Amino acid sequence: MLKLYNTATKQNEVFKPIHPNEVTVYSCGMTVYSHPHIGHLKAYLMSDTLVRYLRDLGYRVKQVMNVTDVGHNLNDADDADDKMEVRAKQENLTPWDIARKYEKMFFENLSEMNISMPSIIARATENVDHMIELIKRLEANGYVYKTKVGLQFDTSKFAKYAEFANLDLENQKAGARVEVDDERRNPWDFALWILNKPDHIMKWDSPWGVGYPGWHIECSAMCLHYLGEQVDIHTGGVEHIKIHHTNEIAQSEGATGKKFVNYWLHSGHLMVDGTKMSKSLGNGYTLDDLKNKGYHPLALRYMLLKGDYKKSFNFTWENIHNAQNELVKIWKAVSAIVNNVGGQIVDKYLNTFRDALDDDLNTSLAITSLWDLLNSKEKPEDKLATIIKFDKVLGLDLENADYRLNELEDYQGISQLEKQNARLLLRDREQARKEKNYQLADEIRDKIESMGFVIEDNKNGSCIHLKEYGKI
Ligand SMILES: [Zn+2]
Repeated sequence: MLKLYNTATKQNEVFKPIHPNEVTVYSCGMTVYSHPHIGHLKAYLMSDTLVRYLRDLGYRVKQVMNVTDVGHNLNDADDADDKMEVRAKQENLTPWDIARKYEKMFFENLSEMNISMPSIIARATENVDHMIELIKRLEANGYVYKTKVGLQFDTSKFAKYAEFANLDLENQKAGARVEVDDERRNPWDFALWILNKPDHIMKWDSPWGVGYPGWHIECSAMCLHYLGEQVDIHTGGVEHIKIHHTNEIAQSEGATGKKFVNYWLHSGHLMVDGTKMSKSLGNGYTLDDLKNKGYHPLALRYMLLKGDYKKSFNFTWENIHNAQNELVKIWKAVSAIVNNVGGQIVDKYLNTFRDALDDDLNTSLAITSLWDLLNSKEKPEDKLATIIKFDKVLGLDLENADYRLNELEDYQGISQLEKQNARLLLRDREQARKEKNYQLADEIRDKIESMGFVIEDNKNGSCIHLKEYGKI
C-alpha cells in the first residue's frame, strides 16, 4: 500500500486517488531564463520517481508541468525587473528567444537524467487566456482589488491563508520590508495581473488593461484547465511552500470553493559542500559541469536516489565519484547477464523493492534490494527479468548498460581511437604472454598504463579499464 508524506498534514498518508486507477499530478516547472543547475534537477527526479512508481503500480498517470516563460520577477517585489527580460538584454535576444533557448536546455537535461517528459508541458505564454479566466472568477468571488501595480489577491478574504505553511502572519507583518506598493492591503497580498508597465516586452490585452500575469496564477490556471478543479498530487521544491504553493491554494480554492490538492510532495534542497548553492559562491553546478569532469548524468540520478527526496542532499565531488563507481559496478554486472533473457521475476526481491517504495518512495532502500538481488545466487535470467522490472522505477537504463558505459568514456574525454589503440596493445600483450615473452608483455603493460588505462587480469583473460570506470 503506497504511503506518501503529505506536506499539508505533515504525515505519511495512504494514497487514494480521486478516480480509481487514474492519478493526476501537477509539477511546478522551471523559469526558463538560465541554465538549470543540479539542484533544480533534484525536484524533477522526485516527481519522475513518483510518476514511474505510480505507473508501475498500474495507475494511468496524467502529469502536467508548467514552463514559466513570462513575468517572473527578480525578487518577490512585484515591480522588480523581470528575470527573462534582464537576461534577454544581457544576451541581446528577445525574451521569447531566451525562453526557448533555456527551455530546450532544461528538456535536454531531463532527458540526460532519464527523467520522463510529463504528459503535458504547459507554457505560461500559451495559457494567458486561462489565467485571465481564473482572475475573472476570483474577481466575481470578491478576492481581487486593484492598486497602481495591478490586480492584487486579497489574502484577508481567504481565511485559511496561513494554514498550509503554518505562517505566523502577525510576526511577518512586523518584519515586513517597506512595501513598494503602498496601496497593498496586506504585505503578503500578491499580484495576479501586472499593469502600468508599458516597457515590459511581453504583454497581453485583458479586461483590466494591457499587462502580464503574476507568477503564481499560471500554476492554478493550468491545474484547473488541464487537470480539473481537484488534483491528486502536486509536487515542487520546499522553497515553494511558503509563498508559491500557499498562493496557489488561495487562488484555486478561492475560485472553486473546493479542496485543491490531496497530496503535496516537496523535494528538499541540494546543498553543495554543506552550503547553499548560489551564483555568488560559484557552486551552482550544471549537468555540463559534471559531464566535463567525467561524470555521467545517470550517476547524479543514482546518487540522489540514494538519498531521501524530502531531505536536503549534500553534493560533494567525492559523493558523485563514489556514486559513479557504484553505478558502474551495477552496469557491469548487468551487462554481463544481459543476454540471459526469458527469466521470471523473483517475487521475494520485487516485494522488498515495492515495500521500500510504498514507504514514501524510499529509493535508498529500493537500491539496497537491487544490490541484494545482484549479489544473490538467483539464476541470471531471473535476476535480469527482476532487474528490468526494478529499472522501470529507478530509471538507471540498466537494459542498455553497455551503451551507458561507453557513453561514460566519452564524457571522460577518451576518444574511440584511444580506446582502439589500447585494445590493440592489449592483444599484443596477450600474444607476448602466450609466447612467454614476459619482458615484452610488461613493456606493453607500462605503455597501456601510461595512456591512462588500468589492466585487469582475470580467469577469462585480460581487460582494460579506464581509471576505475568502464570496460572497453
Ligand atoms: Zn507552480
